[in-house]
Amino acid sequence: MLRFAPSPTGDIHIGNLRAAIFNYIIAKQTNQKFLIRIEDTDLARNIEGKDKEILSLLNLFGLLWDNLIYQSHNFDKHRQLAQYLIEKDLAFYCYCSKEFLESKREEAKAQKKPFRYDMQWAELEKHTNKNPVIRIKGASSTISFEDSIKGHLSFEPHEIDSFVIIKEDGIPTYNFACAVDDMLYDVSFVVRGEDHTSNTPRQILIHRALGYEKVLGYAHLPIILGESGSKMSKRDSASSVAWLLEQGFLPQAIINYLISMGNHTPQEVFKLQESFAWFDIKNIARSPVKFDIKRLRFLNREHLKMLNEQEFALLVDSKDSSVGALAKLHLQEASTLNEIREKLDKIFAPKCIETAENGESGENYVEECKILYAILCEMIESKDLNLQDYESLKNALMQRSNLKGKKFFKPLRILLTGQTHGLELSEIYPYLRFFLKDIVRLDRNAIADSNADSTQAIKD
Ligand code: GLU
Repeated sequence: MLRFAPSPTGDIHIGNLRAAIFNYIIAKQTNQKFLIRIEDTDLARNIEGKDKEILSLLNLFGLLWDNLIYQSHNFDKHRQLAQYLIEKDLAFYCYCSKEFLESKREEAKAQKKPFRYDMQWAELEKHTNKNPVIRIKGASSTISFEDSIKGHLSFEPHEIDSFVIIKEDGIPTYNFACAVDDMLYDVSFVVRGEDHTSNTPRQILIHRALGYEKVLGYAHLPIILGESGSKMSKRDSASSVAWLLEQGFLPQAIINYLISMGNHTPQEVFKLQESFAWFDIKNIARSPVKFDIKRLRFLNREHLKMLNEQEFALLVDSKDSSVGALAKLHLQEASTLNEIREKLDKIFAPKCIETAENGESGENYVEECKILYAILCEMIESKDLNLQDYESLKNALMQRSNLKGKKFFKPLRILLTGQTHGLELSEIYPYLRFFLKDIVRLDRNAIADSNADSTQAIKD
């Protein structure tokens, strides 16, 4: 069994997602089941509904699970196993108050010594403290394990002193719940963030105390650095998976990017399923990797290119494959769905023909826009056959407006796309032509003047 174990205490960031992807891939490669374990042991920090949000995100990324459990449903089992350890004399009640431990911590600090829990303290406050915690006895010999990324790691007994496994309210700690559940669900390999490296010897200690002999494999993923080179924090918006999706990065592109980070892959652009053939966690670089949004943009564009027009249409909230085709053409100058949506919005919005909007070195095409607008409206109204293809439209419009060169093409582009620059009109017109009624519209302020002026212009 492989597992991904999110805590419902915050949003999924790309580091979490990366761990989820790798656990999923290994499950598929080794024909094992994939478990999602919601680690809701921190009752005060759990956020209502966050579990559902995480699950729908995993679903969106196609990381489908065979089994779903909530750690809190196993609290009774955790408590029973803690009792078992007490009976075996491998765990004990500790009555130390927080104040007492704090004073010991201060003492150690004053003596410039590392703080170490001393078992002699356990019952000193037995008569005043009614809510003891349960601690497991610390390691008595070196604990080491092989990390598939970091290599051989060893921890000395002084690094693993007697730590809390059941808190004073009877709730298991992260390390205990995690180790017990990894055992109960027969987890064979754990991929998780580097911040958990020092938890691993503690979890191994728990397994050993419980007499669990299975040796689990571990891979601790190096941290992801922001563009500035420091650890990516919540303040880096790109660290949030939700933000990346909002920006219009496709799940398949994000997956492609997260698998490629700090890795050598036989293909640059690939789908999750393709990586099953060659992915090897051992190839993931040990050193931290920098998040490179430019690379993600490149991959996003490549994945968008693979979509057909119908698929594209759905992504820009349309059922019309002509809209999909139009969106796809814009990949020439955009890399995310948002950038494409922005272009499409400009095409379909009423056109603002005032100077500021088409302004480029003070030029303005207000008059020309009005002239072309009036002619186009007439042609649309009379279902003019010249509207059927770009060449005929261009010729008819030029002839009727008497405009040419820049004074013809710029205003035409403004009326058809809402922009002064962009793709070849001949390239997009075949798709635009189905929506001319929606596209050839002026914004409210321009309409009043234009009706008067352009009628005049045509007469002239
Ligand atoms: N709940 C822990 C986290 O989100 C899981 C760590 C683990 O995979 O053991 O970091």
